[in-house]
Amino acid sequence: MNKYCRTTLEQVVRVKDPGQPEFHQAVEEVFDSVSPVLDTHSEYRQARILERMVEPERTVIFRVPWVDDRGEIQVNRGFRLQMSSAIGPYKGGLRFHPSVNLSIIKFLAFEQTFKNALTTLPMGGGKGGSDFNPKGKSDMEVMRFCQSFMTELYRHIGPDTDVPAGDIGVGGREIGYLYGQYKRIRNEFTGTFTGKGLGWGGSHIRPEATGYGAVYLAGEVLALKKDSVCGKTCLVSGSGNVAQYTVEKLIQLGAKPVTLSDTGGYIYDEGGITREKLDFVLRLKNVTRGRIKEYAEKYPEAVFVPADPSLEYNPLWTHKADIAFPSATQNEINATDAANLVKGGVRLITEGANMPCTTAATVCLMDAGVKVLPAKAANAGGVATSGLEMCQNSMRVSWTREEADSKLHGIMRAIFRQITDAAEAYGEKGNYVAGANIAGFLKVANALLDQGVV
Ligand code: NDP
Repeated sequence: MNKYCRTTLEQVVRVKDPGQPEFHQAVEEVFDSVSPVLDTHSEYRQARILERMVEPERTVIFRVPWVDDRGEIQVNRGFRLQMSSAIGPYKGGLRFHPSVNLSIIKFLAFEQTFKNALTTLPMGGGKGGSDFNPKGKSDMEVMRFCQSFMTELYRHIGPDTDVPAGDIGVGGREIGYLYGQYKRIRNEFTGTFTGKGLGWGGSHIRPEATGYGAVYLAGEVLALKKDSVCGKTCLVSGSGNVAQYTVEKLIQLGAKPVTLSDTGGYIYDEGGITREKLDFVLRLKNVTRGRIKEYAEKYPEAVFVPADPSLEYNPLWTHKADIAFPSATQNEINATDAANLVKGGVRLITEGANMPCTTAATVCLMDAGVKVLPAKAANAGGVATSGLEMCQNSMRVSWTREEADSKLHGIMRAIFRQITDAAEAYGEKGNYVAGANIAGFLKVANALLDQGVV
């Protein structure tokens, strides 16, 4: 890392924002990659581009009071962080999870800015959420929370200002309640949210887009060697939106997904998760809201391995496979997991989740010659299809499933070209982590230069 990057990281980011480890990790990874760009482009240094990129345009933190089913008052904390509007309105999801804090929201918003730049669509970067835990809450409790959350958030968002979407803990149910309250307060029906229901402004393929996009991108890498995902054994973590549709696309393309997980543990189904078994998971996770261990109760040929916090590694990553799709949460693969993946024969990691690999894990994988498709590229299909939803809302039209899917596939191909070309241009051929960071950075940095000191 060059002096400008190192100084900005050590004397600006770490000093101004101590106690934000996830944010520091995300910044360090980008700075590592863009260092050679800054070596050759003094105009970015003079314009203080890095200092501007790490400082959010706006951060809103607010109280979210609500009443639970017993009539007790609960108070949560809400966030919306508007990182960059350099190339379009702020865009990024909302996460509801007890672990949510400013560091996590900020790392997600920072990453989102570069990811959105890669989609080829005009979207800036933002992220938000709350430490509210929807798990175990009744539908009415979730609704009351969402209504209270939106009663503050509505004043900061709008179709041309900031367009939120879902993330961990925010799926179709939550988006319905949030959008309903937004519409009621604003008295307008605009595309201020993406991931909406199909019958009220949503786009075909949006629920599937992140998982499908990750598999399409993996296909692009394999195609370089005239190979495909067909016949490949795949490890998938998580069992939420991203994991579900990663598995669906893998099954459609003839691959063999063998694992799924949640915070309680993981299932390993050696023979492969079939369409029928996936339908069971979709019902389990989206309707009855059960736990993944019920998969092994229903299908005894699968084994359930409970999560063991005393272990320093996740046994899910020890199984033999060709490709891994981490699709649960940040830092779910550490250096030991990475070494186990290498030992198990995995040659490609496709990051469905945001920042699922620790810095040490990424180094270990890349040193062993494993290809890593970073989240900024691999899971960009979700936000790209959100961008398509915004287009359809603006035009008051609705594209068919086939049209939306083919546009998504085209965007994933365009992302692959950009990250491949950027890596090659800076002497890092085949390094998709560097390629994604450099391509995203250049687009945002050039917009900042054009727009003056803002
Ligand atoms: P969901 O809430 O639908 O599912 C999350 C899944 O991950 C659940 O199975 C959950 O288990 C598991 N999980 C969450 N936290 C942990 C943890 N600390 N340890 C182990 N397992 C955990 O979220 P999504 O599928 O939407 O999101 C998953 C990842 O993908 C996140 O990193 C998100 O930022 C990223 N992403 C999502 C996009 C989208 O379109 N939805 C777009 C781009 C990125 P449990 O049910 O037990 O909590």
